[in-house]
Amino acid sequence: MKIIAIGRNYAEHAKELNNPIPGVPVIFMKPDTALLKDNKPFYHPDFSEDIHHEIEIVLKVSKEGKHISEKFAPNYFDEIAIGIDFTARDIQQRHKEKGLPWELAKAFDNSAAVSNFVGKDKFADLKNINFKLDVNGNESQIGNTSLMLFSFDYIISFVSQYITLKKGDLIFTGTPQGVAKVNIGDRLEGYLENEKLLDFFIK
Ligand code: MG
Repeated sequence: MKIIAIGRNYAEHAKELNNPIPGVPVIFMKPDTALLKDNKPFYHPDFSEDIHHEIEIVLKVSKEGKHISEKFAPNYFDEIAIGIDFTARDIQQRHKEKGLPWELAKAFDNSAAVSNFVGKDKFADLKNINFKLDVNGNESQIGNTSLMLFSFDYIISFVSQYITLKKGDLIFTGTPQGVAKVNIGDRLEGYLENEKLLDFFIK
């Protein structure tokens, strides 16, 4: 499986990092070795002094497809989860300044924390889902999918014009504002609506 992630999909987050609002989705990928599941702890790597949390809604691709039209995109995912796109912001900043790719900042081991998945049918409106991240009990990031620049369906359609989606692939759909550094000892709790699905520590 592969992990595809969308950058700058919430305008207020793009602004907080002084990035332009994109006209087309910004795409990057993480390898399967980035996956962190079952609320296992995230071990802070030595190569960065500024690892940020990015809470995001994650789609799980339910069948293979390419050149998927937006109209049929809902047929290609049945379940969603909450995840954290851990980002080495210091490395990313250096690479951005030089126009270099982001892999070392985004694709490192355990950089894609994902909760258990829930059926999308549980949600009355996928374009109005609340999600949030608490760090040490304090609300740190609050998002709602109505604020996405590019919808789930548009993302699936767009990505599949370039990259064949396969069953089991994951798509991180972007983070709202409030990204910040994580520290050893922090407790991260992620909510999809009122259900707590992520609860783990930085070690
Ligand atoms: Mg992200």
